[in-house]
Amino acid sequence: MPEESDEKCPICLRTSGVSVESQGWSRRIQCSTCGKFYVSEELYDFTLERLGSGFEKYSKNRFILQGGLREKISPDGKRPIFLTIKKSSPKDTDDVYAISMEDYLELLSPIPQNPSQKIDKLLSNLEKMSAGSYGHLFQLNFETDYPLAYARDVAEFSFLLSAMNEKGLFDMTSKSNVGWHFRLSIDAWERIEENKNKRIKLYQGFVACWFADKHDLFRKAIERGIKNAGYEPLSIKEKNYPETVLSKALGEIRKSRFVVIDFTGQRDTVFVEFGFALGQGLETILVINKNDWKNLKEFYVTNYNVRRYSDEKDLEGIVETAILERVEAPLCD
Ligand SMILES: [Zn+2]
Repeated sequence: MPEESDEKCPICLRTSGVSVESQGWSRRIQCSTCGKFYVSEELYDFTLERLGSGFEKYSKNRFILQGGLREKISPDGKRPIFLTIKKSSPKDTDDVYAISMEDYLELLSPIPQNPSQKIDKLLSNLEKMSAGSYGHLFQLNFETDYPLAYARDVAEFSFLLSAMNEKGLFDMTSKSNVGWHFRLSIDAWERIEENKNKRIKLYQGFVACWFADKHDLFRKAIERGIKNAGYEPLSIKEKNYPETVLSKALGEIRKSRFVVIDFTGQRDTVFVEFGFALGQGLETILVINKNDWKNLKEFYVTNYNVRRYSDEKDLEGIVETAILERVEAPLCD
């Protein structure tokens, strides 16, 4: 009989299928449920010995971390995650980057909360696992695959799978005590396709501004402000801005969390983008160079709060502050 291992995964708290390897001041965890990742000694102790006042919050949100690790969500979409408790963290290296547990939870938000969102998340993960084959035969294990749906536990996962089957999302299904074997039905693939079209890029802030060379330093200041606030700026820089570029821009606006609009130069396309963002119900942050303020159409001056900036530094700060104040960080408590 194998000796009971005292190696425990700090995320799912399991001991079976888990290996823990010390590497200097960190530990490398390989867990059959959560995947491969690194934690600092500090976080390892924190999670296993239930130290400190943050434990309750951590414990409540463990399923989010599990789901995120399974999806390998990271700012560049690739690297394993290195978790620490505090913001002050060790240096990033080639294959890992350092992030605090709290920041990581925020990074993953908004996370699927209700059954339908969890089903959509699972469908999206199944699509990735299908490697492009619509006839792919999936084998999901209750015990190890529940993070794929951001399910809180095995019981919730089992419920979600049954619900999907009842909704006709599975095809050629068989169920055992261990899990489910199935293909996705055409309805499921259609739902995946619909979801893709409306998927929001969680960290994208769109920049609508004048793309003249002399305005370039202001565009860069906006981009820095967005980055400082923890988001990824996107601007589409073609100078001529033909119609196809505009429609591309509108598509990107639809997928963004918020839009920063710089009215300086009074470009038609910028007004179009502004109207479109409003129509999408997006948070908009409006700015203009103070030298250009008097040229702004009366309608905008009186109906909207347009912040006037004096230089790049000023603009960068205005953008960062406005994002932090107004763009909702969706994970509360
Ligand atoms: Zn685990």
